[in-house]
Amino acid sequence: MYSNRQLFLNHVAQTSTAPLMLEIERAQGMYMYDVSGKKYLDLIAGISVSNLGHSHPAVVNAVKEQAEKYMHLMVYGEFVESPQVKYAKRLTEFLPTTLNNVYFTNSGAEATEGAMKLAKRITGRTRFVSFKNAYHGSTQGALSILGDEYFKRKFRPLLPDTLQLAYNSEEDLEKISCRTAAVIIEPVQAESGITVPTKKFIQVLRKRCDETGTLLVFDEAQTGLGRTGKMFAFEHYGVVPDILLLAKALGGGMPLGAFISSKEKMSLLAENPVLGHITTFGGHPVCCAAGLAAFNVLVGENLTAEVEAKGKLFDELLVHSKIKSKHSIGLMLALEFESFEQNKKIIDRCIEQGVLTDWFLFASHCMRIAPPLIITEEEIRFSCGVILEAIDTTGN
Ligand code: PMP
Repeated sequence: MYSNRQLFLNHVAQTSTAPLMLEIERAQGMYMYDVSGKKYLDLIAGISVSNLGHSHPAVVNAVKEQAEKYMHLMVYGEFVESPQVKYAKRLTEFLPTTLNNVYFTNSGAEATEGAMKLAKRITGRTRFVSFKNAYHGSTQGALSILGDEYFKRKFRPLLPDTLQLAYNSEEDLEKISCRTAAVIIEPVQAESGITVPTKKFIQVLRKRCDETGTLLVFDEAQTGLGRTGKMFAFEHYGVVPDILLLAKALGGGMPLGAFISSKEKMSLLAENPVLGHITTFGGHPVCCAAGLAAFNVLVGENLTAEVEAKGKLFDELLVHSKIKSKHSIGLMLALEFESFEQNKKIIDRCIEQGVLTDWFLFASHCMRIAPPLIITEEEIRFSCGVILEAIDTTGN
């Protein structure tokens, strides 16, 4: 008899050389429980997904209620499905009027793809500008604007007309030209190990886009919905994007992404060709019902208001001579260590002690801390204690 772990390695496609291999039986709130009953405090929220923790009762109820009414009915945009309508209306109440039209997708990558296609239609241009160390998804359009050659080179040819600039370099923004369809940027870069740009950089970027007729696309897959201490990270900079991408926490734990723009811009996807972006499952009614329920808890409990203070407490407590640097905004934190090997040892020790953390795609020597926003002061103190102990015991 093979164990589930062996079957996982044999039959579930493996793309990681170091999977965490936890076998979780159930998860509730801040905690996951493995098959032996051991409990883990979740400091990564499924990579910025589970803002309300796991299986929040309001979300679970919404899923059950909607599944009993109807699940998939028809491809996107044909039927009036009330979970989609209600969620699109509710989201746009929190956005500027130029972001009043939502295209729901299955994932973050599909939101990126949709935004890139929309930008081509709006501008008639084909060049995309993104940034070094940027991550926007793993499909081929999104991969074309990914800011790391190692992850791209074996998949070429990709889209031909792309350019990656240095993040937070005002000088590099000069390379945005009248040929550029769109600049796609994370308003806080996540997978580089949390890089927070200056307000000026984002403002100069907005200006350069305006001067050249280039669309500005903010990818808020990780930063959206409260994680940085504002509902949307763009609120930190006093600028509004032309297209906003959401994913991750958008579905309250169910798969859901979105690209959001104005009704006028979005209408180009219905013209020559019609059906400019097609998805069967995008905006699935159960996912939209779950997302709406989660969004309403986020707003109703004003969880975003506590994010800055919680992030600050992590920052204050996580002091150790072996932490080379810290980068953070709200509840997105990175601790830099000497090497991946050292980081991995510390992460493994934390997991042994019941605290789940991780590293970053482009910064494997940095520890990721991005817990559900519901984390309490006591849980922050406990987890920081475990991390500091793990740093002490794992040496170099
Ligand atoms: N954009 C950003 C900033 C992301 O972090 C991610 C996922 N890590 C994506 C897009 C892609 O989302 P998905 O995995 O749902 O395709």
